[in-house]
Amino acid sequence: MKLIILSEQTMKEMAELLRKGAKMLSISCPECSSPLFQMKNGEIYCSKCKKNIKIVDEKENIDQLEINIKLQNTILEKIKLLEKALKFEEDLNKINDITTTISYLLDILKKINEFKK
Ligand SMILES: [Zn+2]
Repeated sequence: MKLIILSEQTMKEMAELLRKGAKMLSISCPECSSPLFQMKNGEIYCSKCKKNIKIVDEKENIDQLEINIKLQNTILEKIKLLEKALKFEEDLNKINDITTTISYLLDILKKINEFKK
């Protein structure tokens, strides 16, 4: 567990937030690690950074990641199939179609990889 050192000023502000009806959350600020507060209007506020913090739903992130992995596997499978088809294709129009599709799929893969970072 991380040791958090809070200044007297920050402690006072936290007490003030609680007095105003804000709720102390079990999550801490990603920037300064001090406890976060949920204001009455639903906004999440860090009393140390003195700003609203946007919390990314971890579950949502994991779901998105799972979808991305599935999508990535499907796309890779399709690229393999297209590659096989391309190998034996002699019709120029069809070759064009296949290569265009492969190019689109590779673009999607690139986007998925960018998302993962
Ligand atoms: Zn903070």
